[in-house]
Amino acid sequence: MSDSIKYVLDESRLPRFWYNICADLPQALPPVLHPGTHKPVGPDDLAPLFPMALIAQEVSAEREIEIPGPVRDVYRQWRPTPLYRARRLEAALQTPARIYYKYEGVSPAGSHKPNTAVAQAFYNKEAGVKKLVTETGAGQWGSSLAFAGALFGIEVQVFMVRVSYDQKPYRRALMETYGARCIASPSTETRSGRAILERNPKHTGSLGIAISEAVEVAAQRDDTKYALGSVLNHVLLHQTVIGQEAIAQLEMAGDFPDVIVGCTGGGSNFAGIVLPFLGAQLRGGRKMRIVAVEPAACPSLTRGRYAYDFGDTAHLTPLTKMHTLGSTFTPPGFHAGGLRYHGMAPLVSHLKTLGLIEAVAYPQVAVFDAGVQFARAEGIVPAPEANHAVKGAIDEAIRCREDGVARTILFNLCGHGHFDMQAYIDYFAGRLTDHSYSEEELAMALAGLPAVAEPA
Ligand SMILES: *Cc1c(COP(=O)(O)O)cnc(C)c1O
Repeated sequence: MSDSIKYVLDESRLPRFWYNICADLPQALPPVLHPGTHKPVGPDDLAPLFPMALIAQEVSAEREIEIPGPVRDVYRQWRPTPLYRARRLEAALQTPARIYYKYEGVSPAGSHKPNTAVAQAFYNKEAGVKKLVTETGAGQWGSSLAFAGALFGIEVQVFMVRVSYDQKPYRRALMETYGARCIASPSTETRSGRAILERNPKHTGSLGIAISEAVEVAAQRDDTKYALGSVLNHVLLHQTVIGQEAIAQLEMAGDFPDVIVGCTGGGSNFAGIVLPFLGAQLRGGRKMRIVAVEPAACPSLTRGRYAYDFGDTAHLTPLTKMHTLGSTFTPPGFHAGGLRYHGMAPLVSHLKTLGLIEAVAYPQVAVFDAGVQFARAEGIVPAPEANHAVKGAIDEAIRCREDGVARTILFNLCGHGHFDMQAYIDYFAGRLTDHSYSEEELAMALAGLPAVAEPA
């Protein structure tokens, strides 16, 4: 049996820049619109929520943005992260494919999310911000921001989607260990939360509702800002350290991907591994297939509409053009909590529309089958979200076996599942069920899309 191989980069190879794909896009992103006037937003419209340095990154067209020294110093605690060649998984699948995975679970919070949490905490600290308010689904983002807040001396308040708050007490405990305050959403602490609870006191929450609550609190005070863990351009930008390292590691291996696979909730870990490769392709480099994998129970890229929509349920955020299921869409309480967002990053949506990426949706039982097969071969227990990428990569490898072609597959193993073992318990007990929607069900939340006359 061949053992799996680990490719490690020296600390001196830690990226010095974040890569901004906006410099290389064949067509610019559609503008972000003001929720009231439907006119493109300017920096001042976003200033109540974000520090200027992050707003500048949000709209930047510069190809390389320098990573500040203090952020690189924190990254160095766990970066560069390892890249593995999954030889034991290849053997188990009897595939001629070469399967590589980039492992982001080695960060203190156990996922890719600290890559942006640390950067966001740094820029907010520089701007004199005292407190950051945010939402979290499964708790990965909340615990990452809590970690970053503790390092930079910023207070952190987290609205956690109710269903995860009840299902995942360990993530809540992790946030509290880092010193954050965690509140189940919908809560009675905000107008948006109270409005939801009046209609349904047992509401299990959604990311859209938790975002409304966090934005509402952040907008009330000058020393308090909002932080988002995915979706926005600057978040995707910060994650590009993943792909830049993977390019260097595959060079060490003397290989190059034919296919790149990532799971998509809001799109940030997917963008993080994909964008540096795709940028090189757009500048004339080798072509790849790029596959986004999402849950069938929250299928924004495969079954949503590409339209202007709100980022939150109470309609406090600007309008962005993205693949969306409608801002009032509440997915069932399935286990990949990080993949329950109604929309998709505008940048990832744009790439899909340009035909530069593909998307597939899988039901959760098949996704856990893949995750367990991976754990038994490679030893790492993936987060339920990451199981979607594992499933996507395994299906590509099986196709290689059927075609008799030895392609190179790269996927992002964006986090470990150590805080998600209840999901595995439920899987082994046969308690996971698959949910898929009829067109009528999907049409309901889409009927509420705002009527926007698209800017010419
Ligand atoms: C948050 C999270 C996701 C989903 O968010 P993206 O922005 O799409 O990456 C996926 N996997 C893990 C482990 C997460 O923590």
